[in-house]
Amino acid sequence: MSPVEALLARAGMNYSDRVVQAVSDVSLEIPRGTALGLVGESGCGKSTLGRMAAGLLSATHGEVLVDGERMDAGHAGMATRDMLRVQMVFQNPMASLNPRQKVVDIVTEAAVYHGLIRRRERLEFAAELLREVGLPPDVLNRLPHQFSGGQRQRIGIARALSVSPEFLICDEPVAALDVLIQAQIINLLLELKERRKLTLLFISHDLGVVRHICDEVVVMYLGRIVEQASTADLFARPAHPYTQALFREIPRIRSGRRAYEPISGEIPSPMSPPTGCHFHPRCPCVMERCSREAPPEAEFEKGRVARCWLPLSI
Ligand code: SF4
Ligand code: MG
Repeated sequence: MSPVEALLARAGMNYSDRVVQAVSDVSLEIPRGTALGLVGESGCGKSTLGRMAAGLLSATHGEVLVDGERMDAGHAGMATRDMLRVQMVFQNPMASLNPRQKVVDIVTEAAVYHGLIRRRERLEFAAELLREVGLPPDVLNRLPHQFSGGQRQRIGIARALSVSPEFLICDEPVAALDVLIQAQIINLLLELKERRKLTLLFISHDLGVVRHICDEVVVMYLGRIVEQASTADLFARPAHPYTQALFREIPRIRSGRRAYEPISGEIPSPMSPPTGCHFHPRCPCVMERCSREAPPEAEFEKGRVARCWLPLSI
């Protein structure tokens, strides 16, 4: 028995219990030129899904299609040119930028490597990219630590844009920034989306941020989609009790007091998800059948999907 197996045995689990389904039975379709928000508490599988869509992780089942063509990691016959169509912007730009690399190299490395530009075109290409993300061209020779958090995120965005992607996956791109800078980065992403006709998958735990940028929102809980709707519908009338609880978590500063209401209970371990509806131990609307029967993901109204018995019975 390996040390890991011994530990698991002591916890009453066997080795095969360690197979965790971080994401299951998820299907997303993002119309070209639109932004889809992926929302949920940390650990719900949003980053895993984003990484799979970006080809950084491979799924055991399933596929990623862009315009009907397979884009998922390791897919045989996939051309590098195709891989470049999907790029990712990460939450922590300091961790995702090489601290010893100058900005000019960070934002031109991939384009040179893939033959999109020649080496001698680097400076001009980098300056143009920096201008596009709102940084002055005279910072080309600086290192990442010489920038603020917001500026570093602009560099991360410039790097993603350097290979002219069509699909940009942003994983909590503003979560590490203060509110004023968040707004600037969100505006930048909106501008770029328009100008470059980008399609966005925008991952965030913050519904307020998603509202500004997304046309459609998907809410995830324990690796599954629990609700999907247009941003307008979701904000006007959230249907799933989990989505409703997420809204109650947004501090209401405008009303003069912080009515912050965290969702009760802990997020269950994805290793042993609750029976029936995964949200039932925390759900304020729980009914008798909820712990026995898992609700299907169903369209309860045109364009609106939820995985809950309640909207289905209205
Ligand atoms: Fe709550 Fe039941 Fe709906 Fe699950 S199915 S979210 S427990 S009401
Ligand atoms: Mg995450």
